[in-house]
Amino acid sequence: MSSCEKQPHISTLGGRITCPRCQASSKRTKQQCKSPAIKGKRVCAIHGGKSTGPKTDLGRQRSAAAKTIHGFETRTKREYRSEKFTELKGTKNLLFKKGFFE
Ligand SMILES: [Zn+2]
Repeated sequence: MSSCEKQPHISTLGGRITCPRCQASSKRTKQQCKSPAIKGKRVCAIHGGKSTGPKTDLGRQRSAAAKTIHGFETRTKREYRSEKFTELKGTKNLLFKKGFFE
């Protein structure tokens, strides 16, 4: 098993019970958590399975503001890139209309 593949299930009680395995990875060792996941969740209690998420409007706003990174870029970078793509598209269309390209 390579480090990026995660085991979906774990056996407990000497192999008599199979249950979903926590999908969290250790920051330090990069290995998958060995605990079973909480029922209906992907992760164990240690890794946020007990969390119910933000409840109040203020909490939701704070969470939305804090979670700006998804993948390798922030919302600001994504918006900037989208704006520049639109600008580039406009320029390209203008050049096609003027006959710079055939
Ligand atoms: Zn875990």
